[in-house]
Amino acid sequence: MAQSFYITTPIYYVNDVPHIGHAYTTIAADVLARYKRLKGYDVFFLTGLDEHGQKVQQAAAKGGIPPQAHCDKLAPQFQELWKRLNISNDDFVRTTEPRHKTVVQRTLQALYDKKEIYQASYTGWYCTFDERFWTEKDAVGGLCPDCKRPLDQLSETNYFFKMSKYQHWLVTYINEHPDFIRPRARRNEVLGFLQKPLEDLSISRPKSRLSWGIELPFDANYVTYVWFDALVNYISIPGYLTDEPRFHTWWPADFHLIGKDILTTHTVYWSTMLKALGLEPPKAVFAHGWWTVSGEKMSKSRGNVVDPNAMVAEFGIDAFRYFLLREVPFGQDGDFSREAFIGRINSELANDLGNLLSRTLTMIERYGDGKVPEPGEPSAMDNLLQQTAVKLLGTELDVHLNNLEFNRALEVILGLVQLANQYIDRSAPWNLAKKAEDRGRLNTVLYNVTETLRFLCLALAPFMPHAAEEMKRQLGLMLNFSKPLLSAEITWGGVLPGTEIAKGTALFPRIDTTKSQGESRVDQQQPGTPTPPMSSAGGEGQISIDDFRKVALKVGLVAAAERVPKSTKLLKLQVDIGTEKRQIVAGLGAKYSPEEMVGKRVVIVANLKPAKLMGVESQGMVLAAGDLEVSALLTTLEDVPPGSTIK
Ligand SMILES: [Zn+2]
Repeated sequence: MAQSFYITTPIYYVNDVPHIGHAYTTIAADVLARYKRLKGYDVFFLTGLDEHGQKVQQAAAKGGIPPQAHCDKLAPQFQELWKRLNISNDDFVRTTEPRHKTVVQRTLQALYDKKEIYQASYTGWYCTFDERFWTEKDAVGGLCPDCKRPLDQLSETNYFFKMSKYQHWLVTYINEHPDFIRPRARRNEVLGFLQKPLEDLSISRPKSRLSWGIELPFDANYVTYVWFDALVNYISIPGYLTDEPRFHTWWPADFHLIGKDILTTHTVYWSTMLKALGLEPPKAVFAHGWWTVSGEKMSKSRGNVVDPNAMVAEFGIDAFRYFLLREVPFGQDGDFSREAFIGRINSELANDLGNLLSRTLTMIERYGDGKVPEPGEPSAMDNLLQQTAVKLLGTELDVHLNNLEFNRALEVILGLVQLANQYIDRSAPWNLAKKAEDRGRLNTVLYNVTETLRFLCLALAPFMPHAAEEMKRQLGLMLNFSKPLLSAEITWGGVLPGTEIAKGTALFPRIDTTKSQGESRVDQQQPGTPTPPMSSAGGEGQISIDDFRKVALKVGLVAAAERVPKSTKLLKLQVDIGTEKRQIVAGLGAKYSPEEMVGKRVVIVANLKPAKLMGVESQGMVLAAGDLEVSALLTTLEDVPPGSTIK
């Protein structure tokens, strides 16, 4: 029987629409779930909504509708966003569902019967916003230590869970299980919290104060505290008390992924509740960091809340998934900015990955008649590429993903992409194609790059499901990502020679930064004012790195040169840029003769719009120094292959 893997996100509180923070946790959980399925695990991936409590009741009242109607209105916004982001959750819990409420009540009853819950009167400082009491020493200046709102002194009879009696057990447990709370800094934070005496937990709210909750089975005057209700979702949905055999295939959960703000509830409250029930704690609770936006805290009042729907509409699902996990280590805080996002798309997804796929397919079309050729004997360079690919799927991806080092995993994947691009540059298939005796070597090179792309497809599938499907389709591969493709060792040589490729559109089109920055600045400009093309960031005359990246500079090799008739300055050059030859008209004729130019390496602007000079088409521009007259041609110090990128 396959090993089980149970992963959860927090159930999100429905007092507002989903934002980037919700998307972040859910995408991370999805990548792990998809990866484990590919590894052959039986996966249960649970997410959902926390629909009870004071804040939901207040939000509903503000909207003038009953709480249930409020929840019913917001729930589809989460469900639709997850569908849109390609989230592969196996279940979606809403805490107002009977299947959950029944288990919460039976859990409360069981603890009450075991005398783990008792009634007592309590006077303390209460924060309405956070729905919790604070002790005298916490209530500095009469303000809530969490949200800084004024506290009310309140006396109330409530039910309490005997949390304090598990303090010693919990400290010992955390010390003996170094992987239980992660990353390490969070573990230390919890241990620090547990140095103070742990108090019993109030698990009830009088209905006079809060009616929107699950009623206590042993006292109809109360509903249960929202956290006691919410945390139970992790066991109610897999079948606790309703389907014990099923429950025990999933529990204890492998990972609870959470934001760092709900660390105490998930480690202290939840572990002691489980202990009192006679259940094991989850294997790991991993708390990730928070996102700021362009260096600022994200908040409604600042108007800088990142809407995942808008990001996906503008940049695509896979780019969004990629960026969130690539940009910062999962346990740390990160900053979201359009510039950084666009930079990653243009350099890593368009230039590196997308270009690798498209140039490989172009060469197979041109030199292999659209079919993957048969490889010959490998060289040392081939072996390096092969070993790097095998190591990626054999060990590296697994190590990094099991440690939730998503950024490291993507780094090694990108490393293979870059190695494959270098391999092409060094092998120079365009030169091999010129001689019949190099045919065997050409075939080997084309085969090896295609095979590397198969490894990349498999490695990227959990992160970017759409892109992996599209790569697979263009490469003509038979991969069914719903099968446990990574459950056995992936060996080199899986692509069948003769496979017909189907080159399609670019995997990740480059983002035009002039346009997108223009759009984002609409509010500062008069309608119809043209956006200056290169003055986006910084002071007068400065450009951003993204502006610079828009210029595709490449090394070209001048294969032929002649004078443009009736012109003293213009030379018509045929320039080899690796994947193709370009005709470029350049004003070099006063300084250089056509004979001098042949065989020279030049620096060209490869993405310049074609233009006609004295009736001759020019597909690019050759760079040279000089104010009015050309005084020197730009070239490279070493003999790099034609098509090499200049950056
Ligand atoms: Zn508060």
